[in-house]
Amino acid sequence: MALEFLSHADNTLQAYLLKGWFEQQGIAVQIRGEVLGGAVGELPTEVLQPQLWTDIEHLDKAQILLKSWQSEPSSSLWFCRHCSEENPTSFDTCWSCGTESQRNT
Ligand SMILES: [Zn+2]
Repeated sequence: MALEFLSHADNTLQAYLLKGWFEQQGIAVQIRGEVLGGAVGELPTEVLQPQLWTDIEHLDKAQILLKSWQSEPSSSLWFCRHCSEENPTSFDTCWSCGTESQRNT
């Protein structure tokens, strides 16, 4: 498949969070530029920022989804009762430890 650059992530954690989220929406995302241990101090900052790449077929949809992700009010996040990590509302279980959301439906 032909990959196109989608977005920068602020950090590796966010990159994986977004990747998991996109996959839930049926869009495969690849992370590039992830920092591997060791050479961190020698690379320019831009290289340290993970990039999200997606299939060109999904690029338009992915960009729209990304906007909705970015505009999602922080009040719609939920915090894991087990590890206190932030999770977007679209996650039913914590991305970090797998604990189920405590939201009551
Ligand atoms: Zn957790």
